[in-house]
Amino acid sequence: MNHFMNKVAIITGGGAGIGRELCFQLSKLGTSVVVADIREDHAKMTADQIMNSGGTANYMRVDVASETDIQQLIDDTVLRYGRIDYMFNNAGIAIGGDVRDLTLAQWKKVMDINLNGVLYGSTIAYRVMAKQGFGHIINTASATGLMPQPGNTPYCASKHAVVGLSQSLRYEGVDVGVKVSIICPGHVQTDIYKNMTVANVPNEKIVESLPVGAMNPSEAVDIILKGIIKNKAIIIFPASVRWAWRIY
Ligand code: NAD
Repeated sequence: MNHFMNKVAIITGGGAGIGRELCFQLSKLGTSVVVADIREDHAKMTADQIMNSGGTANYMRVDVASETDIQQLIDDTVLRYGRIDYMFNNAGIAIGGDVRDLTLAQWKKVMDINLNGVLYGSTIAYRVMAKQGFGHIINTASATGLMPQPGNTPYCASKHAVVGLSQSLRYEGVDVGVKVSIICPGHVQTDIYKNMTVANVPNEKIVESLPVGAMNPSEAVDIILKGIIKNKAIIIFPASVRWAWRIY
């Protein structure tokens, strides 16, 4: 039987990009999918598409920077399906630019979504999963959670913190049956990626220099699902490693 059959997964940021593709692929494998996104219209579109193809899905408008929203999302899922097998804390944003132009408001916004959002999603799901005695929390950091990213300082700092948070949680989870994995994507062709620059070099220039180019979301999700089956601590993409070798 496949690993994802008859499971229940919450995916934050499921309305677009990698999160949306995760919703589609998990549903095809037999998982009931809860699509959570700040863009309710996008979350609905993802859930509708799954239902129209015969899968099981529901959606909720959730701002991951709100602890109350995440609590409601998790409570509703437990009420609806009776358990949570996978919690994907995937939603994220990037505010790039020269650090001299960085404002505190920008820094806080990135931290509220990329770091605090993952903290709420991880800890609230962890409580439910520890009680169940099973569950897998999958937090999306980035290749830049493991290396510098000039021109994208708040993003890079938030993703480093996600790595630290998740690694600690992974050790704590062992005693209560909760698994924790960290996804560290390189370049994946989504909206966030299109707007990213590194040290003022436009993204297409960086991607041109990568031996494997940028992945499409479907290739990325394939790597992610294989990493989850193997319960990898860090699911890192080959493109990221090659990129790191190139610039350092
Ligand atoms: P994306 O912009 O295509 O999708 C992000 C989704 O998150 C959107 O649907 C957006 O509406 C949602 N979102 C944003 N703020 C939210 C909030 N406050 N609450 C709930 N939902 C919110 O980006 P993506 O590339 O699919 O990114 C997914 C994750 O992968 C992010 O954490 C991102 O940092 C990470 N990542 C992406 C790349 C890449 O190259 N695409 C590389 C490394 C890491």
